[in-house]
Amino acid sequence: MSLPSDCSEALVACERLAAAGQVQSCLAKSQALLAQAQSLKLERLQGQAGHWLAHSLLRQGELDACRQAGQAALGCLTGLPDWRSRVHCTLTLACAQALAYPEALHHADQALREAELSGNAKLKAWALNRLGATQVDLGDTRQGRALLQQSLEMARQHADLELQFAAHNNLGTYLNWRSLGRLAPGETHEEALTLAAEHLRLAQELAQRMGHPVALALSEANLAWLLREQGDLPASLTHARQALELAQAASLAQVASHARLEEALTLIELGDAQAAHVLLQLNSAGLSARDHWGQMSHWRALVQAQRALQLFEPALHSQQRYYELAMDEVRVRNELHLLMLRRQHELDLARAQAHRAKLEAEMQRLRAEQMRREAHEDMLTGLYNRRFVAEQLPVLRVRSQALGRPLLALMLDVDHFKQVNDRLGHRAGDQVLRELGSLLLQHTRVSDLAARMGGEEFLLLMPDTEPSRALDVAERLRTRVAEHDWGPLAPGQQVTISLGLAPVAEGEAALEPADAALYRAKAEGRNCVRCSWPDPGGSSAPARHTAPGPLV
Ligand code: GH3
Ligand code: MG
Ligand code: MG
Repeated sequence: MSLPSDCSEALVACERLAAAGQVQSCLAKSQALLAQAQSLKLERLQGQAGHWLAHSLLRQGELDACRQAGQAALGCLTGLPDWRSRVHCTLTLACAQALAYPEALHHADQALREAELSGNAKLKAWALNRLGATQVDLGDTRQGRALLQQSLEMARQHADLELQFAAHNNLGTYLNWRSLGRLAPGETHEEALTLAAEHLRLAQELAQRMGHPVALALSEANLAWLLREQGDLPASLTHARQALELAQAASLAQVASHARLEEALTLIELGDAQAAHVLLQLNSAGLSARDHWGQMSHWRALVQAQRALQLFEPALHSQQRYYELAMDEVRVRNELHLLMLRRQHELDLARAQAHRAKLEAEMQRLRAEQMRREAHEDMLTGLYNRRFVAEQLPVLRVRSQALGRPLLALMLDVDHFKQVNDRLGHRAGDQVLRELGSLLLQHTRVSDLAARMGGEEFLLLMPDTEPSRALDVAERLRTRVAEHDWGPLAPGQQVTISLGLAPVAEGEAALEPADAALYRAKAEGRNCVRCSWPDPGGSSAPARHTAPGPLV
């Protein structure tokens, strides 16, 4: 459904006003647009207007109202990840300023998620900025700075000045009184201040280039903080006053109040407690109750000013207020610590679970492979087993028929194997069988299928093999076995085999001709080869050893 044209215009106007830092006008415009969208029942427009309303309320330091407006907007922006990401960014800041860090972190995560869903790189950079600032606030300086730096790179790529300003500003102020930030591991306070100075100077340059009232006022206030930290009190004072002027001109209540605080803090250090006191009293009205850091700094400054002025009763009262707020801060820090631990724990858990899932998948794969192997493998020799032969025979037969090539079966049986067992024991017998298995593999082609059919009986299936060649193979095997040094495995024991060679037959009786040939080999003296076709003579020598005995 297309929007009424005045609504589209109003929406564009909100964006323009926000970009120009005209907070009051943006607030009024977005409120009017929201009411119009509600009366027209235009849900999406309500969400969009709600976004600009939340944005303006944040700028004015109306943190509760901002959070309400933001939540309401999210409710209207289903399926619009780009707008949702913007609202979550605003809510991140509002929650962080109200010390609601778990919520801030949640919104920062969501902002990033929605930005990724939307595929909008600029929004992603903004979300990284908010997430980085929140991480810094949570005391994770290293991670937070890395995210801020990443958002800075992206902002440079897109030549987005406002985002570059936000990144430099956040990188420059993580140690000021408006943040929980800590020094990075191994960093000194001086190093941190030098780095802060670089970022804040760049932020100021960008604010001037943009001519953005919010950015200008913020950068002046931040420079006032930095210069006081660096001990340049007169310069600090100038920037604080400049910040106040800019903030008041743009109706930025919160920035104005922070600027006054900066000025008062510097005045105290300059020894002008009287002026600081006046300023702080003036500030009480403008300071939002939700602005925790502002409140805390305000009451602490007031204690110092009142003490210097020997206003002991009011100083006691201010001290009380400051302690209450400081206790809140301790609570927040503890909660944060727990939150960080929980997040770390969740991360570790997720990583461990992913690792376990990977291991389990690998184990399952190995188990499946092992089962497949076991189903096809003879455990003693590692050759294929009878089941695999049964599965493969039809396949090999079809293939040989299709190619018009012969498929031969060579059955092998150890001669008088019972006596090997009887003389040397079953274990030695097993070793002889294993050795026979490896001889069989050594002296055959990879395309042949070598299997143990059970007991001391083996089979070699030879696809695409001419009978005469198969006969050579059989004879070679017979000789290799007979001439093999069996001494180490079966001391004093001669091991020979009988072999029967025949083409694979049709159907159930596939191996019967080879079996029959083997039977003949046994009957005709053992340690010899017999085949199903007329003996060509020579290769199938009559048995020389009819019984196992000592090797000659
Ligand atoms: P022939 O020359 O007629 O084949 O005589 P043979 O002794 O080899 O044949 P027979 O069938 O009488 O005996 C086979 C023997 O093989 C009996 C059995 O104890 C042994 N045997 C079968 N399976 C295994 C096994 O897995 N390990 C061992 N060590 N011996 C086995
Ligand atoms: Mg035997
Ligand atoms: Mg046998």
